[in-house]
Amino acid sequence: MITVLRIGHRPERDKRITTHVALVSRAFGADRIIVDRVDEKLRRTINNVTKKFGGNFEIEFGNYMEAIRKFRGAKVHLTMYGIPLEDRISEIRKLENIMVIVGSEKVPRPIYEMADFNIAVKNQPHSEVSALSIFLDRLGRGKELNGELKIIPEGKGKKVLRIPGREECLALLEKYGADDGLMRHSIMVSRVALAMGKGCDSDGRLLEAGALLHDIGRTVTHSIFHGVEGYRILKREGMDEAIARFCSTHVGAGLLKSTAKKLKLPDQDYIPRTIEEKIVCNSDTLLKGNKVVKIDVIAKDYKEKGLSSEIPRLKGLYYHLEKKCQFRIEELLELNSQQIY
Ligand code: SAM
Repeated sequence: MITVLRIGHRPERDKRITTHVALVSRAFGADRIIVDRVDEKLRRTINNVTKKFGGNFEIEFGNYMEAIRKFRGAKVHLTMYGIPLEDRISEIRKLENIMVIVGSEKVPRPIYEMADFNIAVKNQPHSEVSALSIFLDRLGRGKELNGELKIIPEGKGKKVLRIPGREECLALLEKYGADDGLMRHSIMVSRVALAMGKGCDSDGRLLEAGALLHDIGRTVTHSIFHGVEGYRILKREGMDEAIARFCSTHVGAGLLKSTAKKLKLPDQDYIPRTIEEKIVCNSDTLLKGNKVVKIDVIAKDYKEKGLSSEIPRLKGLYYHLEKKCQFRIEELLELNSQQIY
């Protein structure tokens, strides 16, 4: 949990700069901001951004001394007079509950004493906006905020992806008549995918949506065509291509164009490409009757079904992700003991 405390806000003078402090807090992964003077316009602006772009960011107002005294966690005050960020960031990363304090004008002396860490982002004067963004970025190791709207980086133009939340995905499965078995399987794939993806730079909301919806085509057919059917359902529902592709790219370990042709699927390849597509595909593959099993068990099944030629790609994807996301199979096997619902 990360709280930002903005002290010395003067609504008449600091309008834009405090808005920027709050926007940086949200965009760089903080959970809430406390501003020391009530400013309803600021509250509206920030709540509108959160509503539009997603997440659970909160804005509160209150006396800063009281907020610091009441806070049960580590207080990190950003000041040019502090210890260099590089010297303390690994220690701070290990803490669970952090309050990051930034000032505006001269910061009162007691703040330096009440803080557990006085941290400098370079020992030169600059701004609370730059100091806060660099600090939060280093703290989160550059990870992106997982919002409902994901900005797809583009050289030119604007591309925004809407990611359906968990409830929306489950409601959609129900709408298409998913039975209990399909619901359980989809939830289990989402658990495996989230556990697998936490060690690498993957988007948790995208993983969850992709995992929950990857098999929606099974409400139409259980044949190899279920991936294509699922893709069609999601496109019809107005979902983005990036969401619909979880359906078409999870079958097997991803199908080559030549294999797809033999299977009489529409003429294209069905290879998972993004990190999230790869994780969902691999999570689905590792399940046998809703239990996680080791990759060799799956490889043996492939052999028995006459799919030996697919085994190198199956194992290739598994070992690629094991290295990239540094997941341990033991950790995934532990998910077998959890109730699905
Ligand atoms: N002279 C002021 C003081 O007494 O701290 C600094 C005012 S500065 C415009 C506003 C805020 O930016 C500071 O309170 C601090 O949080 C942040 N800041 C500016 N330079 C910084 C630096 N080099 N390292 C960390 N924080 C900095």
